[in-house]
Amino acid sequence: MIADESNKPSALSLRKVAEAQLVKTSLAEISSRPVEELLHELRVHQIELEMQNEALRQTQLALGESRDRYIDLYEFAPVGYLTLTVDGMIAEINLTAVTLLGCKRSKLMHKSLRMLVIADDQDRWVRHFMAARKLEVPSSVELEMRRGDGKVFYAQLDCVGNATTVRITLSDITQRKLIEDELRIAAAAFSSHNGMMITNPEGVIQRVNPAFTQLTGYTASDAIGKTPAILQSDRQDSLFYQQMWETLKEKGCWQGEIWNKRKSGQLYAEMLTITAIYSSEQRITHYVGSFTDITQKKEADAEIHRLAYYDPLTKLANRRLLQDRLGHAIAVAARSALFGALFFIDLDHFKALNDTRGHDVGDLLLVDVAQRLQENIRENDTVARQGGDEFVVLMEGLGNTANEAAVLAAQLGDKLHTALAAPFNLKGYEYYCKTSIGVGLFHAQDSVEGLFKHADLALYQAKTSGGDRLRFFDPAMQDALEQRSILEAALRKVVALKQLRLYYQPQLDATHQVVGVEALVRWQHPQHGVVLPEEFIPLAEDTGLILPIGRWVIETACEQIRKWEGDGLASGLKIAVNVSAVQFHQPDFVAQVQRILVASGANPARLKLELTESMLLENMKDTIAKMQAIKELGVFFSMDDFGTGYSSLSYLAQLPLEQLKIDKSFVRNISRSKNDESIVCAIITLGLGLKMTVIAEGVETEVQRVFLAMHGCHEYQGNLFSRPLPLPELEAFLKRT
Ligand code: C2E
Ligand code: MG
Ligand code: MG
Repeated sequence: MIADESNKPSALSLRKVAEAQLVKTSLAEISSRPVEELLHELRVHQIELEMQNEALRQTQLALGESRDRYIDLYEFAPVGYLTLTVDGMIAEINLTAVTLLGCKRSKLMHKSLRMLVIADDQDRWVRHFMAARKLEVPSSVELEMRRGDGKVFYAQLDCVGNATTVRITLSDITQRKLIEDELRIAAAAFSSHNGMMITNPEGVIQRVNPAFTQLTGYTASDAIGKTPAILQSDRQDSLFYQQMWETLKEKGCWQGEIWNKRKSGQLYAEMLTITAIYSSEQRITHYVGSFTDITQKKEADAEIHRLAYYDPLTKLANRRLLQDRLGHAIAVAARSALFGALFFIDLDHFKALNDTRGHDVGDLLLVDVAQRLQENIRENDTVARQGGDEFVVLMEGLGNTANEAAVLAAQLGDKLHTALAAPFNLKGYEYYCKTSIGVGLFHAQDSVEGLFKHADLALYQAKTSGGDRLRFFDPAMQDALEQRSILEAALRKVVALKQLRLYYQPQLDATHQVVGVEALVRWQHPQHGVVLPEEFIPLAEDTGLILPIGRWVIETACEQIRKWEGDGLASGLKIAVNVSAVQFHQPDFVAQVQRILVASGANPARLKLELTESMLLENMKDTIAKMQAIKELGVFFSMDDFGTGYSSLSYLAQLPLEQLKIDKSFVRNISRSKNDESIVCAIITLGLGLKMTVIAEGVETEVQRVFLAMHGCHEYQGNLFSRPLPLPELEAFLKRT
């Protein structure tokens, strides 16, 4: 009988089978059978017994291996195993537990486990152990235990016991405890009063805390899955956010103040800190944003600022802020080289209003005045209230020269004066307010104190000379401005009153033949006599009065051309007329010229328009088109004062010009300045190259004429031949030559 591996019979049972077999074979049978047969049978039994013994040995071997494996598993298990006696002594301990406890096995055996627990936890352990002995179901406890080297670690003990022993599984949970601690701390931080949100690296919100909801109005379900853009207000531009992200990527954190929007739409200011969280591979895994609402603090700061720098009644800047701004304005003026102006504005008879109508009404007026002033200044100007009924306006960037600035300041001051002159409605009471204004101009070198004094003095003068007026600090400037306004008023009527005259200055060719005249306007003033164009053309250009004046000049010149037709001496002359930039840039200028030509019946070929370089630079395409259209009418063009502007030569070639006129400043310097002589020569060469005639103006001496002639100049105009003449004298001149 051969037993298979899985079903090996034990040695004992085999023996019993053999004996049973032998018993069955009765003695009778034995005696009746031959001896050989009996011996053979015994032999067979013997072999069977040997086989049974071998099977037994194999089984014992397997058992031994299995025991070793068990011991390995026990000793080197990932957790510690201990068996305690009922009184808590260590009866058995595996190698893992020995290693965890950091002691030799011999020192641990038969020792109370309690002694390895730290003093604070010993009571708890004893109570747990007693319970585990009775329970017979597993129970677990966490304790701090001390290793052989004195270090403490967190242990988890899973115990199962009975009346005789308690078996314990021991694991080191220090790492888990630390993580739990951190989590607890993080959770506590997350539930703080600061609003918090956690986003993924793409900025999508993953978590928000209750304070976030409280501050923004967005619940967790509102916010999660969205980006912080839901909070965005338009107070910061895209550049701000771009820089924020750059800092975050570079430094891993960003902090700053930011205006955001609550779910309700209300704006609020927050102090925000964003921190990037990195993985162990230094990849950003999250961003944590933490913020506090600083709106109230901001408002409080603003209120403090308002109280310190603004007038509570009118909400205008107060004297202190004005002084700051003025100091700043002077510094800016130093850099820009532009003038500014300070206006002191005082309400005439304010005291009387206060006394008769009461302070409430007085206050109303002050508030209304403040408002009107603000409505009538430019964006960057400052209005302030000095106190009482005194207001101050600060204007910057008024011009390069004192005169220019004074003109502009006078205009802006008049505007304020007029705005305040309209009636005020003070609780149904119509009040006419008169104001005195003192103006001080300032420039780089002025001081704040000095300037206040100037404006104040000017205001005093405005008041003492009757009030309801504007006065400048500088008496010369004041005079000039007054002259100017008188002149302007008179100039308005100059055409209607027929006070303009045309003088004509002859233009001669190389053979001293008069080929044309330049019409130069004069103002025949009833009191001042003949006024030269230099004194009124700039003002006329500034005020737009050049338009009617310029039209009159072209009309008069054309009528003269018409009158000279058939005149033996003058019929071949061209009349050159000066055209101002403002005049030329009128949209209907071409049509105007055409209308005048038609109305007068003048031959267009006798009319020449003098333009200056600077006016042509303004809008080249339009300019060229206009000149072309006028040229098609048959009219010619001359470039006046040539050499003083900045014409580009390539551009010059595109213009339909017939003539270049060398400016008199170069002609004057012939034989005095080599440079200017070179310029004169260059202009002549240029004119010849561009197939234009060249005329020199302001020729006063024979030397100048000879120089010009030697270099090929075509025509001449100047006092050497004749100064500008009234018509009768010109006609006499023509007869003489
Ligand atoms: P402009 O067009 O360059 O006129 C030439 C100026 O030089 C004229 O001054 C003339 O009197 C002056 N002049 C002529 N010969 C001599 C000379 O030998 N020596 C000196 N030193 N000066 C001489 P005027 O008449 O006082 O005119 C001055 C400027 O006023 C003109 O300069 C022109 O730009 C402008 N102007 C004159 N009439 C008109 C006009 O009807 N309309 C416009 N828009 N401007 C005019
Ligand atoms: Mg001219
Ligand atoms: Mg000129």
